[in-house]
Amino acid sequence: MVDFERYSRQILYKNIGQQGQAQLLKQHVLIIGMGALGTHLAESLVRTGVGEITIVDRDYIEFSNLQRQTLFTEQDASSYMPKVVAANNHLKAIRSDVVIHQHIAHVDARFLELHATQIDLILDATDNFETRQLINDFAYLNKVPWIYGGVVQSTYVEAPFIPGETPCFNCLVPNIPTINMTCDTVGVIQPAVTMTTSLQMRDALKIILDAELSPKLTYGDLWEGTHHSFGFAKMSRSTCPTCGENPTYPYLHATSRDYATLCGRDTVQYQNNNITQEILESFLIRNHINYQSNPYMIRFKYKEHQIVSFKGGRMLIHGMTNPNEAKTLINQLFG
Ligand SMILES: [Zn+2]
Repeated sequence: MVDFERYSRQILYKNIGQQGQAQLLKQHVLIIGMGALGTHLAESLVRTGVGEITIVDRDYIEFSNLQRQTLFTEQDASSYMPKVVAANNHLKAIRSDVVIHQHIAHVDARFLELHATQIDLILDATDNFETRQLINDFAYLNKVPWIYGGVVQSTYVEAPFIPGETPCFNCLVPNIPTINMTCDTVGVIQPAVTMTTSLQMRDALKIILDAELSPKLTYGDLWEGTHHSFGFAKMSRSTCPTCGENPTYPYLHATSRDYATLCGRDTVQYQNNNITQEILESFLIRNHINYQSNPYMIRFKYKEHQIVSFKGGRMLIHGMTNPNEAKTLINQLFG
C-alpha cells in the first residue's frame, strides 16, 4: 500500500503520478559504493520511495569523508563505522519501511553473482574503472541496466547503459585509463557530486518508469560552467568483448587477487579467509599489539602502518600502494 500523502509532491509531477509511485515501490536497486555518490544516491532513492535497495562498500568512515558523504556524522567517523552500517541506520531513520540489504565487502564477480541477480537496476558509485568494467560485463550478461557516474575535482560525467538497447561502457572506454585521478588524489567539491547524482537519479527514474530515454553521455565542469552531452547509440563496436557479436565478458572471468591496491587511497587490500576476527584478536593479544575493535572490525598498528581487518578476513593496510610491500608485511606478521 503506497502512502500517497508522503509522496504527494512527486505524484503531482506529471511524469510520475500514482502509477509511477506504485512502480517505484516495486523496485530493487543495487548501489555499488557508499562514498560521496553512493550516499547521495541512496538517500534520494529512499526518499523517492524505491522499495528495496542493496548497498555495498568495503570501507569505513573517516573525518575526511564528512565534507561530501552526506549521510554520515562525526559519531560515525569517531567510531570507525563501516559505511554501509552507518548508511543503513541513517536511511532507516529517514524512511522506516524501506528494505535494505547491506554488505561490507569488496565487489568482485562472485559478489555480483550472489547478490545482484534479482536486481532491477545497478547504480555505479565507485571510483575506479576496473569495477565499472566488471559491473558492465555482469549487467550485459544478465540484462540489467546500469548507470555510470564519475566525479573528480569540479567535473562530472554520467551515462546510462541498457543491455539490448545501448552500446556498453566497454564500447566507449575500451582501455582502462592508466592515470586514474580520484577524489583522494586531486580533491572534489560537493556541488560536483550532487550534479553527478542528479543526472544518475534522473536516468534511474526514467528507466524505472519506462519513460523515453535517449542514451547520452553527459559531462561538464561545474566550476567553469561547461556542460555537454552526446548521444552514443551509434558507438557500438561489433568486436566489443562485452556486447559485440562474440561476447566473452573478460572482467567477469578475471581471477580475483589476494592483494589489490585501492586507487588513490594509499592502501592495499589483502584477503585471507583463514584470518578470522577470533584468530586475529588472540594473535594481537599474544604479541602485545594494542588494538581497537567494534562489532565489524579490528584496527591496529604494525610498523607505522594502520591495519583494519573486517570479518571474513579482508584487511586494509594503509600507508602503502605496492602489493609486494603488503605481502612482506603480512608475512612478517603472520609468518
Ligand atoms: Zn560494448
